[in-house]
Amino acid sequence: MTDPRRRIPRTDSVLADPRLTKAAEVLGRDLVKSAVVEAQHRARAGEIAPEDVADAADAALSGRPCAASSLRPVLNATGVVVHTNLGRAPLSQAAVEAVRGAAGHTDVEFDLATGARGTRGQGALTALADAVPQAGAAHVVNNNAAALVLCAMALAPGKEIVLSRGELVEIGDGFRIPELLASTGARLREVGTTNRTSVTDYAEAIGPDTGFVLKVHPSNFLVTGFTSAASVAELAALDVPVVVDIGSGLLTPHPLLPDEPDATSALRDGAALVTASGDKLLGGPQAGLVLGEPSLVQRVRRHPAARAMRVDKLTLAALEATLRGPRPPVVAALEADVTQLAARAERMAGALADRGVDARAVSSAAAVGGGGAPGVELPSAAVALPEEYADALRSGNPAVVGRVERGRCLLDLRTLDAENDHTVVTAVLDAVGTVVAGAGRPAADTAGARAGEDVPPCTS
Ligand SMILES: *Cc1c(COP(=O)(O)O)cnc(C)c1O
Repeated sequence: MTDPRRRIPRTDSVLADPRLTKAAEVLGRDLVKSAVVEAQHRARAGEIAPEDVADAADAALSGRPCAASSLRPVLNATGVVVHTNLGRAPLSQAAVEAVRGAAGHTDVEFDLATGARGTRGQGALTALADAVPQAGAAHVVNNNAAALVLCAMALAPGKEIVLSRGELVEIGDGFRIPELLASTGARLREVGTTNRTSVTDYAEAIGPDTGFVLKVHPSNFLVTGFTSAASVAELAALDVPVVVDIGSGLLTPHPLLPDEPDATSALRDGAALVTASGDKLLGGPQAGLVLGEPSLVQRVRRHPAARAMRVDKLTLAALEATLRGPRPPVVAALEADVTQLAARAERMAGALADRGVDARAVSSAAAVGGGGAPGVELPSAAVALPEEYADALRSGNPAVVGRVERGRCLLDLRTLDAENDHTVVTAVLDAVGTVVAGAGRPAADTAGARAGEDVPPCTS
């Protein structure tokens, strides 16, 4: 009798199995190797046949997440264009390519022509300068909160930051801009009231202790009725630096969002510095932009804490590509034509109804989101499903996140690239089983629909 151990395939030959080679590319060789070793143990113990070692390793790995990262891609069908819980702006294809290109070694801080050290992220800074000629200089940090902290540290150490009581904004997850600023040691000098603050209120508070005047865009709430606020131009006449936190990162005015502040206008009106996020309406990676007067940007850039807020090469690559490349997805979603959205909704609902799914095309109201433009409704179109689909779609693969409204699960198409319509239809058909099992209703006719060939390609 031959010793069965003899026949256990060697680790290297099992690892050469194409399925395992492929798995090693995403999961890493160590993880795949440990699955192989485990399968070899099982073969030695007689639990599986020696020729099944590769199969067993593959099966063990298939139970794992399909990538080395546990973050899963989500299709955003919420109709909220900038959704903080879903990672805010999805990167453009150009930005994704740039990130891929910069992922290895790259010349982020190196001059390939001379072999000497170069200015870090020069390409992104030049792209910003080109996008906002009004800005004399630019600096990039990790996010807008960091930009504000750095401005406070560099321009108001031991001094006062004068700001309106109507602009004491909580940005989310319990973080508040006044507390953020106070954490730097700067003192906050609140002026005016919740609903009304005049330029005189600021003027009376300004003195030798003033570091700067801060204007914060109330980006996630609206105060209506008996209200007034001082404009950037009025504040700029006060002879102290005015820092404007515009929030969303519009670099120039956008016709669809007339009330949303933008960097160019704020600087033209006399702001010394503008701060903004990179991953809201700008549509790029998480980043904080500081734009404005060269001498002040230089003070911000050279502050010791700037090093702690430095962005990595991936952010710089994605930011530059967002600025230089084609319209990013956030802007495409904002500008999408509602009649085209409606046509997509009709096609998708039709394809689903043909398979027995209770799906209807409905009109809907999308929103810009916590990233800006509170109160602005973007006319949109959605596929309306029974409410139970919300849970099933969210836990599907890929995860599709819709929104529940008046007892229906709406899949809003404004925030979905048309390229994904087919995938969403397939996800709904996949969810039918789960929904039906939960509701105890007869199964819809999904036979053959999984392949989804009957869904017409989208033209928009
Ligand atoms: C979103 C926002 C912030 C915070 O920006 P992050 O990039 O998330 O740090 C600060 N101020 C305003 C007005 C905002 O809208």
